[in-house]
Amino acid sequence: MYNEMNEKCGIFGVYGQGLEAARLTHPGLFALQHRGQESSGIVSSTGESMYIHRGRGLVAHVYSGRDLDVLPGHIAIGHNRYSTSKGSTPEHNQPVVRPLAKDGEYLALAHNGNLPTTNTLERFLLEKNVDISSLNDSEMMAEAIRYYLLRGSNLSEAVLASYPLFNGAFSLLCMTKDELTAVRDPCGIRPLSMATINGGVVFSSETCALDTIGANFERDVLPGEMVSVSASGVESIQIMQGCQRLDLFEFVYFARPDSILLGQRVNEVRRRAGMKLAEESFTEADVVIPVPDSAIPVAEGFSERSGIIFRHGLIKNRYIHRTFIEPEQHLREKDVEMKLIPIPEVLRGRRVVVLDDSIIRGTTQLKLLEILRRAGAKEVHVRISSPPVRYPDFYGIDTPKQRNLIAATRTVEEIREFIKADSLSFLSFPGLIEATGVPEDMFCTSCFTGQYPIDIGERARELMLAPV
Ligand code: 5GP
Ligand code: MG
Repeated sequence: MYNEMNEKCGIFGVYGQGLEAARLTHPGLFALQHRGQESSGIVSSTGESMYIHRGRGLVAHVYSGRDLDVLPGHIAIGHNRYSTSKGSTPEHNQPVVRPLAKDGEYLALAHNGNLPTTNTLERFLLEKNVDISSLNDSEMMAEAIRYYLLRGSNLSEAVLASYPLFNGAFSLLCMTKDELTAVRDPCGIRPLSMATINGGVVFSSETCALDTIGANFERDVLPGEMVSVSASGVESIQIMQGCQRLDLFEFVYFARPDSILLGQRVNEVRRRAGMKLAEESFTEADVVIPVPDSAIPVAEGFSERSGIIFRHGLIKNRYIHRTFIEPEQHLREKDVEMKLIPIPEVLRGRRVVVLDDSIIRGTTQLKLLEILRRAGAKEVHVRISSPPVRYPDFYGIDTPKQRNLIAATRTVEEIREFIKADSLSFLSFPGLIEATGVPEDMFCTSCFTGQYPIDIGERARELMLAPV
């Protein structure tokens, strides 16, 4: 089954006797807002009863103080969802919740990632007479786990039994009324960290949310590992031998700059990427400006290494969130214009180097060049802190079909012509890897190289270019 709903999301979970788990999950989700702005949800448990609150929109809109009052208990999981234009249907909001045998008992599941192919999972569920017609990948995973729960397994046994059915990228938090499990796919494509707080255990997509609630980072949940927490304590099982392949795009764009991934502060990686870019593709100019927010540290690094002064030549309207996934191209273009506002005093008569983290469709740069020229920039030199994105993502980042990736069909020179820049350079692949400070073999680099570390099954037919 073809699944339109690539989701890149944020997940957060707490288990701690005596803690108000939902009241910690709520600020956790706030800190993970950048990973999903479409909907949010929390499920909590007192050990006896379970509670749920889900809604559309930003964390700030979804929960009022009263809503947290009705999410009691020492166990909670939460989810921020970010789906494609087509997938924004409320019935697929997360956490996914499924009833179990006894009244008032449920399985709840929060998923970050995407399963590019669900054939094995579908076959399993069809054999068990589960109607899968309206289910997405996350819901199918929940149904598989539920199958084992209904047959007497506890949660960790049920996750263990279902794990081989899951093919793709998944960082998962699952809970029943008395157990919480965290599990990652064998490549650990999406991040998931673990921390402690007042004798309790916390899981979070990114470390930034751990800092927010004052939890102490312990370690990452390992690729292929399941950590389960219950009244009998914390238990780890290495379900499959893992091989770390974190999505490189987490460093490029997705993660918040204050998070630490694979031991590296994202902000510093981006700054080093900017320095590398200045080394690889220096150009004479009067001012260096970032496309806010993701490229701010990149521009800092570029300025530092090139000696060209850094200024904020663009202000971002912080209250516009969704330019990237607007369904219509003309809407995306209009949104860029509303979102990025030029400061003429910084730009007029100047030779400008503008830094951005990535070019996907090319919409942002095309509009941006117009904006900068209109504000009086004399020359505009575009520098991008990642290599050209030539391959689509199947693991939970919301990139478009390959034909819509501008670098899949155009050379760098053709892209430069299209966006009408005076010059355009991308950071080299080795340059980006060096900037991360992490060995290349610990990354999934599929959007740059077309090498997919987890089988993408029938979706391979969607590819038009051979891997590099
Ligand atoms: P384009 O406008 O070329 O389609 O996309 C590139 C711009 O979108 C860059 O400014 C980059 O910061 C941003 N971007 C890259 N990947 C993503 C993503 O997955 N989601 C969102 N919302 N923006 C992205
Ligand atoms: Mg951007």
